[in-house]
Amino acid sequence: MARYSEAACRLCRRENLKLFLKGDRCYTDKCAFERRSYAPGQHGQRRGRKISDYGIQLREKQKVKRIYGVLEKQFRRYYTRADRQKGITGTNLLILLERRLDNIVYRMGFASSRNQARQVVRHNHFTVNGSKVNIPSYQVKIGDMIEVREKSRKSPFILEAMETVVRREMPSWLEVDGSNFRGIIKEFPNREELTMPINEQLIVELYSK
Ligand code: SF4
Repeated sequence: MARYSEAACRLCRRENLKLFLKGDRCYTDKCAFERRSYAPGQHGQRRGRKISDYGIQLREKQKVKRIYGVLEKQFRRYYTRADRQKGITGTNLLILLERRLDNIVYRMGFASSRNQARQVVRHNHFTVNGSKVNIPSYQVKIGDMIEVREKSRKSPFILEAMETVVRREMPSWLEVDGSNFRGIIKEFPNREELTMPINEQLIVELYSK
């Protein structure tokens, strides 16, 4: 499976926003964005560059792709699907991304970043409604129960993530029972519950051209 592999902190600096791609490190003073909050590369500190409307839309799309760890082709497919659904395309797009199993594992606190969540899902550590699922892009449904498999409950990655999840806010649309290593999708989030600074309308404008 193709995966983006550039240094994670460069991506935050490029997007001028903390994307929380490195788990616990993102909450410490080792965070590269805290130390160098300008774009990477030779011209990263150049000021006053005028960005076109297209450039702004493109950056917003790149930012969202990077937050969720999705590459262009797949992102485009999410957009096409969101556009076909009823409702607001931009919101539909974000909800489709939130419904990815790797994102849910991260949101529930069984992984400290979406990258790590993707890894633990691929390594067969989770079940959905009792069946093994190792596809990070798997779309969860309302009522699905996500569980850490019995044999994986001693995994240091998962235990460590569960210990440190207090640093993050647990979304109200999920219900997590940490002592039994499981969680349920109570409902899908509404737009107000997705608090990352994203202007999804810019992505809709970009793809509608
Ligand atoms: Fe981004 Fe985390 Fe790196 Fe900070 S530590 S720059 S938030 S990936």
